[in-house]
Amino acid sequence: MLRIFTDFDGPIMDVSERYYQVYQYCLEAAKEPDQTITQLAKGEFWRLKRAQVPERQIGAISGLHDDQARRFALLRRENVHSHDYLKYDQPVPSAVDALEQIQALTPHLAVVTMRRQHALSFALGQHGLRHFFPQDVQYCLPDVYVKTHDVIEKTRLIEKAMGELPPVTETWMIGDTEADIAAARSHDLPVIAVLSGIRDRDRLSTYDPDFIVDTLKDAVAIIATQVSSGADSQA
Ligand SMILES: [Mg+2]
Repeated sequence: MLRIFTDFDGPIMDVSERYYQVYQYCLEAAKEPDQTITQLAKGEFWRLKRAQVPERQIGAISGLHDDQARRFALLRRENVHSHDYLKYDQPVPSAVDALEQIQALTPHLAVVTMRRQHALSFALGQHGLRHFFPQDVQYCLPDVYVKTHDVIEKTRLIEKAMGELPPVTETWMIGDTEADIAAARSHDLPVIAVLSGIRDRDRLSTYDPDFIVDTLKDAVAIIATQVSSGADSQA
């Protein structure tokens, strides 16, 4: 029996527009009214995010002074997960197809995400994804909760999921960041990193996932192959 854990933002949701909208707002809020700044185009902004360029540096590249860049980074942290901006998220174009393919492959699909419960529910409802993830396979952060470190939180959520869900013989993890890879590793799970999220190939290679592919759909294709070749070798 196969189980697939998938992260939400990156493999399923494209959050680039939300992050870009927040960037524009914070840039405007951090600068002096008459100050000339260089607002990055979305493509360039997202390239920097995927290369894991720190927020303050993105502020500086956009023309903010040191103090402003610090305030910019702070504002950004306060706003990027706020409810006002969640509406900018869109499903990755092939994600629904991929989720249907997973359902054909196994009944054991669960989502493991750093989203808060309300932010996950909002997206599942808004984009018609709820039937893929019933309540009992939603592993996310509670609405009121002080988050520590992404790697620690994600590792805990996977541990909780593995303790609560019915046992299976094989479990895969799919995600788009170092936290997904590290959390999977700490439970000895094979992990596939996707490029549809917030890290580029260079960054992901550093963390050494089992595979790096473009999308969730490509990840499912790999798992299907691995599972069937495993079955062959046992026969
Ligand atoms: Mg993610």
